[in-house]
Amino acid sequence: MAIFDISPLVSDQTAVFPGDTPFQAEFLMSFSGGNHLELSRITSTPHIGAHADSSSHYHAKGKGISDRPLRPYLGRAQVIEVEAQKDRRIQVADLKESVITEKRVLFKTLSFPDPNKWNDDFMSLSPELIHYLADRGVVLVGIDTPSVDPMTSKSLESHQALYQTEMCVLEGLDLQKIQPGSYYLVALPLAIQGLDASPVRAILCETIEDLTGVD
Ligand SMILES: [Zn+2]
Repeated sequence: MAIFDISPLVSDQTAVFPGDTPFQAEFLMSFSGGNHLELSRITSTPHIGAHADSSSHYHAKGKGISDRPLRPYLGRAQVIEVEAQKDRRIQVADLKESVITEKRVLFKTLSFPDPNKWNDDFMSLSPELIHYLADRGVVLVGIDTPSVDPMTSKSLESHQALYQTEMCVLEGLDLQKIQPGSYYLVALPLAIQGLDASPVRAILCETIEDLTGVD
């Protein structure tokens, strides 16, 4: 009855894309300050920790996160581990003998090992790979790095491939403890009107019964 949490902890230590807004919480009321409750406000990029980009993030005609369908973020998912090679887009050939069996595919690269420490040379996806997956019925792709495009990319070819294929995306996952294989994924974005992304609490479990477990 295991549930695997694949969202890293979010805090003011969480690394964000250089220039993006880090997470910060400010406590407006607190018990220690003599108030009758604790109340905070947060400022943050929505691209914090494990998050879902919406298509409005990478295309002028894209939709905000509140207008995205939920179904892709919920269902059978396949974790594929690829050989870690710095600053490289994953190619179709890197799938080797992995057959695509699920409609959601998460790539374990281990190339962004510490969510609190930014590194420039994380792995990303090739646009050809996204089209290859779309041709096999995949509706969501995920990765354990901050982006499906390399850090220096300005044309964001893989984000454009996501737009063309209407594929949903999860970035910033923590797959360090996850064995390659088939799981049930839950990673719902918040319905924040018109936003370009939302953090998600992403979990994997081995069977759907794990989600409906006895309590
Ligand atoms: Zn993002």
